[in-house]
Amino acid sequence: INKLLMTPGPTNVPKRVLNKMNELVFHHRTKEFGRVFEEFNERLKFIFQTNNTVLTFPAAGTGGLEATIVNMFSKKDKILAVSVGVFGDRFIEIGKTFDLDIEVINIPWGKGVEIEEIKSKLREDHKALIVTHNETSTGAVNDIKKIGEFMKDKNQLYIVDAVSSLGGIEIQMDNWNIDVLISASQKALMSPPGLTFVGVNEKAWGFAESSNISKYYFDFKKAKKYMEKEIAQTPYTPAVSLILGTNESLKIIEEEGLYNVYKRHEKLATRFRDGVKKLGLDLFVDKKYYSNTITSIKLQNKADKLKDIMEDEFNIVIAGGQGILKDKIIRVGHMGCVSEEMINLTLDSMKKSLEKIY
Ligand code: PMP
Repeated sequence: INKLLMTPGPTNVPKRVLNKMNELVFHHRTKEFGRVFEEFNERLKFIFQTNNTVLTFPAAGTGGLEATIVNMFSKKDKILAVSVGVFGDRFIEIGKTFDLDIEVINIPWGKGVEIEEIKSKLREDHKALIVTHNETSTGAVNDIKKIGEFMKDKNQLYIVDAVSSLGGIEIQMDNWNIDVLISASQKALMSPPGLTFVGVNEKAWGFAESSNISKYYFDFKKAKKYMEKEIAQTPYTPAVSLILGTNESLKIIEEEGLYNVYKRHEKLATRFRDGVKKLGLDLFVDKKYYSNTITSIKLQNKADKLKDIMEDEFNIVIAGGQGILKDKIIRVGHMGCVSEEMINLTLDSMKKSLEKIY
């Protein structure tokens, strides 16, 4: 089946990446794999725009969020967390699962947080601020750079979930004062699902030293120790094929040029939003918070129907709304391996699908 994945992830994986994964399965304790892993770790640092360590775990993005909580904190730690949708809520739920004392800034869905709200809520006794970069359930983007300017030289950790933005929307871990940055393989990084990445800076390693939450598989310190062996390794069998594949994706991004990749996302997102408006539809998110990786479109009680027609008749997979937005919006992903042709095809199929509904 040849389906186009215009979803918020997993997204289309280039043939070159799939072929790479097909070549062979390395044994993970060989020098050969170690060299690929080292190359991969350098590529990750580039895409994170950091000189710090980026850890890789075989897990969903949610694993990266949980790993961050269990490595950075101790029970009862006070945290300030922003939620602008489902994935902000998820991070908070994970924190509560591990007995953190979380104060929440709840933003109405479809909007992003304003810096003033963070300024007025962040206190000295908060250990960290947690923010989602691109909220995948709504397609709203938070101003991570501006918040980072405020977080500079603060004692608190600045933790950012960039699962659905890294590689599609600009983010600079070091320059924007982000202490822990989390992402995953299956979205703008155009690889299959199964890997999560966590960038950890020096300040955050200090927090890892004093954390008293139990962990075994997701132990950051152990993962770092293995990465720093004479030839880089992981404590347990890594997802070797996924690392080979994602390494190829990162190579493709480097070949296009990271900033060209961001520009392509911006151009295609604008083209898509303009096309949607021309179809007479309304966007769910205010202009100020537009996302260049995901667009949500209002479709009261027709969203699921449109989604089904798009998939069944046009082989284009899009997503519906989650939680309170079920059947109220559709979400179209335009990230990673996406071209103008794909955007045009999606708009054209949407037009034809809408004609069948109305
Ligand atoms: N955070 C964000 C912003 C996401 O978009 C997602 C996935 N949609 C996650 C976390 C969780 O990732 P996963 O589904 O891989 O667990």
